[in-house]
Amino acid sequence: MTAATAAAVWLLLRLVPEEDENVDILLDTQVELTEPPTEQETELSLADVVPAPEIDVQHLTINDYSRPGEKVDALEYIVIHYLGNPRTTAQENHDYFESLKDLQDTSMSANFVVGIDGEIIECVPVGEIAYASNSMNHLSVSIENCHLDESGRFTQETYNSCVHLTAYLAARYGIDREHIIRHYDVTGKECPLYYVEHEDKWEEFKDDVMDYIETCKAAAGLD
Ligand SMILES: [Zn+2]
Repeated sequence: MTAATAAAVWLLLRLVPEEDENVDILLDTQVELTEPPTEQETELSLADVVPAPEIDVQHLTINDYSRPGEKVDALEYIVIHYLGNPRTTAQENHDYFESLKDLQDTSMSANFVVGIDGEIIECVPVGEIAYASNSMNHLSVSIENCHLDESGRFTQETYNSCVHLTAYLAARYGIDREHIIRHYDVTGKECPLYYVEHEDKWEEFKDDVMDYIETCKAAAGLD
């Protein structure tokens, strides 16, 4: 076994129990594909005021297990997750998603992974289906977050990047506060754990997203 294979197996063992995606249903469901939202369908003025955070684009290879290459039906929701594997990095999780095309066993991915130091990796382009949010995959963009311990609480760096990324996506695609949801709100799964166990912190997260958008609007003279 090579070191790379051993690392992949190690990651597999750590990652697999945490994301029980309902893949069979997903793969069996033929969704009617439509064009992704165009610039004309979004609020152009607001879309331009929230700056894009620094994003490391590393798109996965199109494959049946982590990037089917299908367009979403519509971008209506932003779904927030946690990876459930303390201390794994954004790059390790990206590489795990990429390795699934070879393992051909588990389906899992996310549009974005935010790391412990606040780094952001884009794994699946916005507007394409990622395997993260079960029945919401065809209506959403997903953000997975790394964390340090069993509490599932994000580091301040992760939190800040997730706020900025969520605000950027919300502004760009015209998604309001009520459509920023947790994986928990889709399936009842305790994801992202800390923000399921602490409802006040989840409300605070959404407040921080909205406050950041308002700050950007004010700075652009949009108020
Ligand atoms: Zn999740």
